[in-house]
Amino acid sequence: MSFIFAVVVAAVFVYAGVAKFVTFNDWTFQARALGAPDPAVVLVPTAEVILGVMLVGGWWLTQTVIASILLLSAFTVLLLVRLRDEDRQPCSCFGATSQRPISWLDVLRNVLLITLLLVSAQLSSVTPMRVWIDQDLCTGDGLCEDHCADAFKLLEDGIAYVAELGVPLNDPGGAGSLAHVAPRDRQSVLRAAEVCPGECIFIDIADEMQESNTGK
Ligand code: SF4
Repeated sequence: MSFIFAVVVAAVFVYAGVAKFVTFNDWTFQARALGAPDPAVVLVPTAEVILGVMLVGGWWLTQTVIASILLLSAFTVLLLVRLRDEDRQPCSCFGATSQRPISWLDVLRNVLLITLLLVSAQLSSVTPMRVWIDQDLCTGDGLCEDHCADAFKLLEDGIAYVAELGVPLNDPGGAGSLAHVAPRDRQSVLRAAEVCPGECIFIDIADEMQESNTGK
């Protein structure tokens, strides 16, 4: 769920950034009319695209979420200031694709996006995920590594081992070799467990050991 929230915000960021680049001349004019400094004309859409990609990838998630919230907060403060203008300009939140004057709906959207980021970060932090493999059941087909090379490695003995950021924990035989799963790898690890033909990938979420492929 936390990943879905992050993806929703990421999609809005990427769309907003790309829309600004696509309508760059109009975006530049509107941004200056809103009082944005010249460097922001290029920096804002660039930051939106980069943050969107990093949210989906899960890279430096905490820092990315904080940067995203700061960016949205800055937008929101600017909107609140401009809402007091008698002659309201378009918000330019999505470049020049919308000529609608700034309204409280824009503020509400930003508050909703900030809320999604906070909930996503909270869910990720309270439900850490770890994974281990019962090597006795492993068939050595390598499907897990195909799905997530960060979390699984097929070693020279033809058996899969869990890994942390691509470094295998070479200690087979059960829950003693639990590997922490990076937030960006959570979905891939779940998918690997679902397709594992040996049904030997086990996932530990928030202290409760559960076999992820019990739904088969
Ligand atoms: S998918 Fe399962 S059976 Fe196949 S290599 Fe990985 S752990 Fe072993």
